[in-house]
Amino acid sequence: MGFLVRKTLVHKFEICAKAVPGRCLSAIISLDFGENVNIITVFFPCYTYNVSHSTELSECLSFLEDVLNNGLSSVVLGDMNFACNVNNERFKQCYSVLSRYNVFHCDDMIDNGNCITYCNYSLSHSSFLHHMFVTDNIWQDIVCAEVHDTGVNLSYHIPIIYKFRWSLNHSAKQADKPKKVKQYSWRWDKSDLEYYYQCTNHSLSLINIPTTPDCDLNCCLGSHFDAINMYYENIVAALHCAFSSAINCIPCDTLKPFWNEELDRLKNDSIFWHYLWLDAGRPSSGILQYTRLSVKAKYKLAIKIACLV
Ligand SMILES: [Zn+2]
Repeated sequence: MGFLVRKTLVHKFEICAKAVPGRCLSAIISLDFGENVNIITVFFPCYTYNVSHSTELSECLSFLEDVLNNGLSSVVLGDMNFACNVNNERFKQCYSVLSRYNVFHCDDMIDNGNCITYCNYSLSHSSFLHHMFVTDNIWQDIVCAEVHDTGVNLSYHIPIIYKFRWSLNHSAKQADKPKKVKQYSWRWDKSDLEYYYQCTNHSLSLINIPTTPDCDLNCCLGSHFDAINMYYENIVAALHCAFSSAINCIPCDTLKPFWNEELDRLKNDSIFWHYLWLDAGRPSSGILQYTRLSVKAKYKLAIKIACLV
């Protein structure tokens, strides 16, 4: 349970309280113009027949009430493990609490409320379990909403994205804080070698070859020494020029250490087949669905194996 916040916005964001271990975490965002908003992320318990489930949900809801009592506009979001459906007991329980604070779900903004955010094909389970609830006065601040379904995501959970029309000033870079010096390295394995060869060919072809008439192994002429030294320097400079324009220099910690070309290929395959399947209207069986799932499973397995090595 947590929040990921862009570094330049950290000063606008304050973690406030957590409750029911691993289930709720609240923070306050300070918008420009002085308005503050509660952001609460939740992971409600899955439905079971025993009492602990119901007690845990009640504890989560009483935590939400504590937070909402500060009177700020609020966003409550996360994996709620229920569909927002009037026949669902847990939704009703949640609704009865949140509606008292004018906090309502926004499901209708995505595919008219008919989307899927959890999909386990092997168990044939799919449902709409992830929701965002907001105070009715910030409803008009939502610009758009979508289910972010791509072939890259290997989880059964499919993220949803809401965009708000909020103004948040990014902080200027803090000059007083000593900055960690970034380490860079030249990555020949991540560069276009063919392009490097073209660059070397081009820059070497611009060098004039020195003409040293009447020269032999015993020659001591200073002008010949100078001409050869100059020739050598020009070759080094030409190679350096080709190298720095064709070879990528990237921060050392940017790449996953276990990543390789095969994983790149499997990832692209997974994205490709996922979009074909989406374009075909998400068929639940047939060759497209079969290929999409097997390509995705291969990609998932290859990542697991690569991480272990
Ligand atoms: Zn000579």
